[in-house]
Amino acid sequence: MADRIPELQDITFMSNSDTHSPWPHRLGREFNRIKVKELTFLEIEKAIEHKNNRGFTLNVGLNPKEGKYHITACSKCYLKFKINDAIRLNFRCPECNGIIKKGVMDRVNELSKWKEPKNPWHRPKYIHIIPLAEVISLATGISTITSKRIKDKWNLLIDKFGTEINILVDTKIDKIKEEDYKIGMIIEKFRMDKINYISGGGGLYGRPTLRSESDRYWGYGQSSLSDFLM
Ligand SMILES: [Zn+2]
Repeated sequence: MADRIPELQDITFMSNSDTHSPWPHRLGREFNRIKVKELTFLEIEKAIEHKNNRGFTLNVGLNPKEGKYHITACSKCYLKFKINDAIRLNFRCPECNGIIKKGVMDRVNELSKWKEPKNPWHRPKYIHIIPLAEVISLATGISTITSKRIKDKWNLLIDKFGTEINILVDTKIDKIKEEDYKIGMIIEKFRMDKINYISGGGGLYGRPTLRSESDRYWGYGQSSLSDFLM
């Protein structure tokens, strides 16, 4: 998204997870891979400045569509709005009179000079992952992430493949499919950036979905997915 803003071309994007959640499955869901000669702060600094053949080689993180304020939406009833409608309505929701909060995507649109992102030479690939516990939840239909059945499956996969990052990013997809076909399918999909999302907005988180549902906007009914591809 942000590579449509010329001012950011020289900036290294860092995808770091925050740690304000007590749940371990929230840790490490965003991370960077960097190329350095040794693990020192000086080397990391060079990587951030993409100097002397150091640099970032991979960004991994959640899809921005999962963000609480991705789409312009009502902060009370979470109804989504096209930005022109929100402006016309003076950012007041006609359904509940709540305040409409401008989404990150519309703010990026305002700041953007380019319609399509232009990735500079130093920009690595960005994989939008789904944390393993959530992958298991999607595959099994068990919605409580902290449930024993999800934990058991998580442990089983970690015993087999070593680490969560191995499974989500590095292990050959056929090996995962051999172990669990449905989980392998979901991981393959997000590695190819083909997961469908219901976007967040107005303070409500977005979520990945295996169904063909899509965002609904005030005054529009069902919109086609292609309207939202960036
Ligand atoms: Zn509302």
